[in-house]
Amino acid sequence: MQESGYVPLKIADPALLFAELGRQPLPGMSLEEMADLMADLGEPRFRAKQLFQWVYQKGVKDFDAMTNLPARLRQHLAGTTMLRLLEKETEQHDRRTGTTKYLFRLADGSQVEAVLMRQSWGNSVCVTTQVGCRMGCTFCASTVGGLVRNLTAGEIVDQIVMMQRELPQGERISTVVLMGSGEPLENYDHVLKAVRLMHDPEGLNIGYRHITISTSGIVPGMRRLAEEGLPITLALSLHAPTDELRRQLMPVARIWPLAEVLAAAREYGEKTGRRVTYEYILIEGVNDGPEEARQLARLLKGTLAHVNLIPMNPVAERPQYRRPGPERVNRFKEILESNGIATTVRREMGGEIDAACGQLRNRAQRKHMGR
Ligand code: SAH
Repeated sequence: MQESGYVPLKIADPALLFAELGRQPLPGMSLEEMADLMADLGEPRFRAKQLFQWVYQKGVKDFDAMTNLPARLRQHLAGTTMLRLLEKETEQHDRRTGTTKYLFRLADGSQVEAVLMRQSWGNSVCVTTQVGCRMGCTFCASTVGGLVRNLTAGEIVDQIVMMQRELPQGERISTVVLMGSGEPLENYDHVLKAVRLMHDPEGLNIGYRHITISTSGIVPGMRRLAEEGLPITLALSLHAPTDELRRQLMPVARIWPLAEVLAAAREYGEKTGRRVTYEYILIEGVNDGPEEARQLARLLKGTLAHVNLIPMNPVAERPQYRRPGPERVNRFKEILESNGIATTVRREMGGEIDAACGQLRNRAQRKHMGR
């Protein structure tokens, strides 16, 4: 009964928030749901596809922009539905890396962060799945104030639509990582619906292979995801090669020991044919020594694995944890590679712009509270 310590997340369905607002949110609706809406309004079915494209593909902010819909329908929708669920509050741009971090405000006043990375090979975004987080990882800024609520599928997708709007005409977002604040597998249904919506060819048209779900290691969620039959990339936040160290850094490791979480990741790889990414934050003097590198290599040897080393982003609330220098990072990488493990080091994407998830929100809240 290894799983007995895990209490699945039970919080009010965030969709109830919108019921209170009295207007139906359009982002989050599938094409079929929009078809039902059109049928209720006595409109022909093809209107649903037109609306779907305005909401997700063109990402307009105003019903008047929906030029192929009749004026009376636009008026009706404007009075009864919500077209965008997010408002851009602030943005921080890092010219050197082409990274922009956004802070968005939701209808209930909650704030979420998302990042747009413009690279030579395409545009990728990192999005948030929960307001706050309850996983309690000791190095992470997102977990400082605990969990507030799950995001709806619409609020997850709308982050992408809002960032797509920021791109020059003709450019699109091709890669999505669910690595912002929150634990995606604790918000399973909304996350899966969001993933299907971002994939829809009539919408953002993002290939499943270009969508990564990152998890701290919720084993039942990993198993369930493996059964979906979707070639989504799974990233597992490992961060330590022994149970003892992992438990110090990640409370979730008290529920599922390494052996179980690694078995679930391997199973995911076998069922989906996708190479699993193992994320490993490097924290100076904590988990970044040659001995840990050798232990990690032993753990992963013989699996279809890719290790992504992430030199820790310093977090204001976690002053005890520091980022190691490049020599230590390289040494760690070399040991993995000499054991035949594919390893990359995450390029530092905007340390100057509070890029560690949760920091921008924390700072905005401190400011708000006069700290
Ligand atoms: N809850 C999920 C997804 C969100 S966190 C997960 O744990 O995977 C996304 C990634 O950012 C995780 O690998 C997480 O461990 C990492 N992360 C958290 N705080 C960080 C920090 N200060 N510096 C670098 N990476 C961090």
